[in-house]
Amino acid sequence: MKEGRYLGFGGQYLPEILIPEIHRVEAAYEQYKDDPEFLNEFHSLLKKYVGRPSLLYYAKNMTEDLGGAQIYLKREDLNHTGAHKINNVIGQALIAKRMGKKRLIAETGAGQHGVATATIAALFGMECEIFMGKMDTDRQRLNVYRMELLGAKVHPVTTGSAVLKDAVNAALQNYAARSEDTFYVMGSAVGPHPFPAMVHDFQSVISKESKQQILEETGNLPDYVIACVGGGSNAIGSFAEYIEEDGVQLIGCEAAGKGIDTKDTAATMALGSTGIFHGMKSRFLQNKDGQINPVYSISAGLDYPGVGPEHVALMDSGRAQYVPITDDEAVNAFEYIAKQEGIVAAIESCHAIAEVQKLAPTLSKDKVIICTLSGRGDKDVASIAKYRGINISED
Ligand SMILES: *Cc1c(COP(=O)(O)O)cnc(C)c1O
Repeated sequence: MKEGRYLGFGGQYLPEILIPEIHRVEAAYEQYKDDPEFLNEFHSLLKKYVGRPSLLYYAKNMTEDLGGAQIYLKREDLNHTGAHKINNVIGQALIAKRMGKKRLIAETGAGQHGVATATIAALFGMECEIFMGKMDTDRQRLNVYRMELLGAKVHPVTTGSAVLKDAVNAALQNYAARSEDTFYVMGSAVGPHPFPAMVHDFQSVISKESKQQILEETGNLPDYVIACVGGGSNAIGSFAEYIEEDGVQLIGCEAAGKGIDTKDTAATMALGSTGIFHGMKSRFLQNKDGQINPVYSISAGLDYPGVGPEHVALMDSGRAQYVPITDDEAVNAFEYIAKQEGIVAAIESCHAIAEVQKLAPTLSKDKVIICTLSGRGDKDVASIAKYRGINISED
């Protein structure tokens, strides 16, 4: 297999029992990815159900306040369900339907991907089961209830540390046992091929739109495109159409947590090493025996010990740069963009905003930055208040 490799990263590292099924998924993706009828249905749902195209918003107040580059925000927070994840879930669920599958499963950390998957399962009339670490079901009861409301069954996973990586393991096991009627909807640009490639394609709608929008607005391509990186799906979607445009600098912002000199971090690019986990060869935070480290970030969506293989290749080839952003910097950015622009953005997205705050003042006024707001921040208000020592929860 030559497909699905990014400078040697990626691949299909799975138990033998899953190989025939992953080959069926790969064949289906190859069959439909350029199929006009498939693409028509995908884009029609993005338009009529998600509300695309999302706005490219000129952040005038931030631009004036920071006093350098012109800042534009790509507003994925305005999508139905409040983030970019729905773009990818619709694409994968349409593949699943064409493969004759009746049941969608997914892993979820804070619940964002689980909610997106449960939403589309409801829309398409499919069964849905979500695997979520027990630690996370306890912390995110609202999202557990939301998924149940949408008709999904949520399985609390108690193995390992009972967090996201353990939920992925449980979902993979369930997939192996039920692959005849089940499709595993991967939540980020990670996992075995063809998932990183599929997620790239479905999320690239972000940069297809932003490229057209910025050309209409300014007549030029942007100088910088900035996005936060967990597994890397909103970032790869934000970068995709610019990868071949050498004049556009690409910057991914990963979660440093309490700092890259502490153990409480999720900065895979800064601190990780090459390994094999969750079906792919990529970069991971692991000990010298290859055991995956516990990771930490204030942002549940960036709290993953690995990163998608295409990002590793973009970093190693020098095409993109990756910077660590601490909890403190992200929380400051959360408050800053709320006060400056009247936008409560997801704490994940605020890792990218923090980089804009650092970079924009160093650039001249004729430079243009596009920063992706991957999601809205309603979900984060209580935890940011708590970070500031204010308790607004009712229990
Ligand atoms: C899940 C999530 C992320 C991180 O995932 P990526 O695959 O790296 O995009 C970022 N922002 C929001 C709002 C999320 O829900």
